[in-house]
Amino acid sequence: MVSESSSIKYTKLFINNEFVDAASKKTFPSFNPCNGQKIADVAEADKEDVDKAVAAAKTAFSRNSEWRKMDASVRGKLINQLADLLQRDLKELARLETLDNGKPLSDSEFDIQCSVDVLRYYAGYCDKVHGHTIPSDGDFFTLTRKEPIGVVGQIIPWNYPLMMLAWKWGPALAAGCTLVLKPAELTPLTALAAAALAREAGFPAGVINVVPGYGPTAGAALALHGDVSKVAFTGSTQVGKKIMEYAAQSNLKKVSLELGGKSPLVVFDDVDLDEAVEIAHNAIFTNHGQNCCAGSRTFVQSGIYDAFVKKAVEKARARKVGDPFDASVHQGPQIDKPSLDKVLRLVASGKEQGAKLETGGAQIGTEGYFVQPTVFSNVTDKMTIAKEEIFGPVQTILKFDTLEEVIERANDTSYGLASGVLTKDVNTALVFAQAVQAGSVWVNCYDAITPQTPFGGYKMSGIGREMGPDSVEPYLETKTISIKVPTKM
Ligand code: ADP
Repeated sequence: MVSESSSIKYTKLFINNEFVDAASKKTFPSFNPCNGQKIADVAEADKEDVDKAVAAAKTAFSRNSEWRKMDASVRGKLINQLADLLQRDLKELARLETLDNGKPLSDSEFDIQCSVDVLRYYAGYCDKVHGHTIPSDGDFFTLTRKEPIGVVGQIIPWNYPLMMLAWKWGPALAAGCTLVLKPAELTPLTALAAAALAREAGFPAGVINVVPGYGPTAGAALALHGDVSKVAFTGSTQVGKKIMEYAAQSNLKKVSLELGGKSPLVVFDDVDLDEAVEIAHNAIFTNHGQNCCAGSRTFVQSGIYDAFVKKAVEKARARKVGDPFDASVHQGPQIDKPSLDKVLRLVASGKEQGAKLETGGAQIGTEGYFVQPTVFSNVTDKMTIAKEEIFGPVQTILKFDTLEEVIERANDTSYGLASGVLTKDVNTALVFAQAVQAGSVWVNCYDAITPQTPFGGYKMSGIGREMGPDSVEPYLETKTISIKVPTKM
């Protein structure tokens, strides 16, 4: 099905500015989700390799290293240089991303442009990290100094491979940390290409290391490592809990987590119907529904419910699924067979529990992991499809009557990553925005994520925020320096 292939240049671990085999010499396959065929054998990091990468990062972080002595503004120039190189190679990187992940080529291009923008934001941030002078009690001149926390571990998922890398690298490098990143085993290729660009940009050896491998081996070794001062994780809530356990079992490293969601998008009667249907459609179907902040519970007010469902179904049916290298395609395959099976299992549960399957619900063909864009109406809060993260192109439409009612129902979840409200009434929007328990509230829009705006979760959707200044803080320690001032001179 894939009409285009990409050259795969980098398949080894990246440690201390060199591409190297795994100590065990083991490799693992990376597959094309369009057809399940292997596209590369990638060096498989295990504990021994993670130890080497962390040791390189530790040396790069040592007191008199080039990195530690570098002016913050020069660090910013390096990050900007990396952004320039990503921009230069955007088309090639996008093809590689689409080959490995299956998302439409234009989506990969968009992701990489976002990655460039994020890196540029943090490039400018490097020399704006500063502490305070404090009017402390007593005869002291007191100031705080913000210092990089040290070597950091970063573990990222497969749904936005390069973008998640940029979200992690930007703030860590702006803070002056050195890092070891473990990409997802399903999509390791663009992280290795980015590592090559970091070397070309001129980052000193050991500042950036990339160790592809599996979660329970390489990921766990990183999160358990005694020389890692902070671990930043994006992925499932289940693994997020493990990351906290690893931190507790080892050196109490700081932890930031960006986890799952079951985000409500609430549509009131007074909206422009076509516009609302379009926003709600994109909120769930973007990236094949493989999006932690997907608007996966569409609440629609009763007065427009039937009309909304009808138009939502039409839009889903018009969605073209197929070869992600074909410019007319909106949706490629799901990432792998377990993900496809999970979507189909949850669709079956929706039918069993009495939701109305309006369209879709089945696999497309037998090759690869393509699934029909799916819409359920008559969904109620207790159904599994309204509670569990499906991570697929399945819109669940629920009916509500009042603002008070929908606030309570929107918040009746253990997640709290994102939310949206569509209405022309500013008071309704304000009340909802204040009451909803979610890290982001998008009013008359969805997915308004920019480098400047913090993003992260309430409740079991995570700890900490990414993007904006908030993301730099967990990569810093605050040191208080109090200097005795003589009372007589
Ligand atoms: P998803 O549901 O998106 O596949 P996961 O949470 O399973 O998310 O995976 C996200 C990242 O976490 C991947 O890089 C994966 O390898 C890693 N991972 C999975 N299990 C562990 C683990 N036990 N320890 C550390 N990292 C893990």
